[in-house]
Amino acid sequence: MPLYAYRCGADGPVDVMRPMGAAPAVVPCPTCGADAAKMITAPRLALADRGKVAAIDRAEASRTEPAVVSAPPPRPVGPSRPLDPRTAALPRP
Ligand SMILES: [Zn+2]
Repeated sequence: MPLYAYRCGADGPVDVMRPMGAAPAVVPCPTCGADAAKMITAPRLALADRGKVAAIDRAEASRTEPAVVSAPPPRPVGPSRPLDPRTAALPRP
């Protein structure tokens, strides 16, 4: 739930939590009861989860700057799957 900033003319800033998009233009000041007007503030991105922000940045960068691959990924190490007996008669490269 986002935190909206309001300002009372007498008491200063007032923070109010409301559902997204449900913040009115004016709320009553909790101290004096006068109208506190909504302020336009910068998003508080510093409070976001760093891992999620990094993932979003990587996803957005991959749109215009995809990672360049110079070789196929290495083959997995370990026992290989047994061949399907139905394909054993097919020619091998
Ligand atoms: Zn006030």
